[in-house]
Amino acid sequence: MDRATTDDDDRPCCWICLDSGPHAESGSPLRRECSCRGLSGYAHSDCLARYARRKSSIAGTADLAAFGRPWDVCPNCSQSYRNEVAMDLSSAFIAYVDEGEHKKNGMARLAARRLRLVAFGTYLMSTSRSGTPSKYLDDAKEAALAVIAIIDEMRAGEGTRLSQSVQILETDAYSVLGMAHLQQGTGDGAAEAVTYFTKCRDTCERIGHRLGTTVAESNMALSLAKSGRGSVVNTSDNLSKYDTMYQHCLAISSESSPNSISVGIRLADALMKEHHVCRANRFMRRVLEVSRRVHGADHDLTKRAAADYARYMKRYVVTVVDQGRQYHFEALRYTEAGRECVVRGPIVQPRDEDSEQTYIIPTGQLVFGVGIPVVVTGLRYSTSLNGKIGDLRSWVEEAGCFMVHFEDEKFAPRPVRQEYLKIVFEVPELEEATDSTA
Ligand SMILES: [Zn+2]
Ligand SMILES: [Zn+2]
Repeated sequence: MDRATTDDDDRPCCWICLDSGPHAESGSPLRRECSCRGLSGYAHSDCLARYARRKSSIAGTADLAAFGRPWDVCPNCSQSYRNEVAMDLSSAFIAYVDEGEHKKNGMARLAARRLRLVAFGTYLMSTSRSGTPSKYLDDAKEAALAVIAIIDEMRAGEGTRLSQSVQILETDAYSVLGMAHLQQGTGDGAAEAVTYFTKCRDTCERIGHRLGTTVAESNMALSLAKSGRGSVVNTSDNLSKYDTMYQHCLAISSESSPNSISVGIRLADALMKEHHVCRANRFMRRVLEVSRRVHGADHDLTKRAAADYARYMKRYVVTVVDQGRQYHFEALRYTEAGRECVVRGPIVQPRDEDSEQTYIIPTGQLVFGVGIPVVVTGLRYSTSLNGKIGDLRSWVEEAGCFMVHFEDEKFAPRPVRQEYLKIVFEVPELEEATDSTA
């Protein structure tokens, strides 16, 4: 023993072996990838696997959900394991099934591999923007191919029809294969991805899996574009895809399920790309609040949601000073009853906030950027628009001002001069719907 035991109270330890250092035999680190809080829920993957092994043996394979649950769900917080812990446990689950009495049970083998596929699917979805290490891409492909091989075996052997859930699993495998190839970032990878997403789409169509079909088609378009054979992906199609997926998540689980939050983060991103900033701000605030409450501030999804929300809250403006030079700033707040604005900048790319300063600039010298949420104020004729909130989605050259898309869809989009607009820094909650027609 090389460490003092007196201060063990305030540092995390494995809830199974009670050790606070790396695992005694394997040296694996103490981890927590679920929604446990405070000092609870930390464990070694080896200890979790030992615990799951025991629970699975007791449950047996008659109820496959109970058989697989200990490898998937933390018994303390009842949420699914994620990231490295999910990958470690799904790998240990496969080893447990393959080496023991269940190795001839196709459904048990599939249950273990399904979990591995889910672990990679979640991982690939969260890293698609940041780049995935190629080791994980190879492992993901292997996991997907293993699932397809077992299903092919079942199809050849049984002569009976495969159940709907097994066929959906097959579409998931093709989807993960497609994602892994797409994330290689090469034209060849994207071309292969098209093949797999097409197989996924065809199977979804055959079994009447409508959401799967929608998602696969959108992934096909994305890979075609990346392989250089298709046109650029339409961002509004992307928005309707994530809208559909999010509605589906809500229908099958709650808004606090990790899946809903993960898709919600994508939906907000799609909203921002279409300059639906008011809705994106309000929606992301809600997603972040739910994630923080249910999964805790340290959860990877909460951290992602928080980072994205902070980005969506930025209000970029331009000011034109002498000799027509443009400077980019972030607007922070109004002062002097809105006659002046506190800004931070000037912003250079890549942004270095340490070198920036705050300034106070007369509001009239600022030019808003596209995507800023605004409120209409001071119109003398169309007074019903005063106080209405909307997004600046496009510039109208003839009018020399931005087109405002109002949140209240009773009002058609129209160009409004900037002198009648104010930046909305904090998008308010939607007011309760009333029957008032005033
Ligand atoms: Zn342990
Ligand atoms: Zn937990």
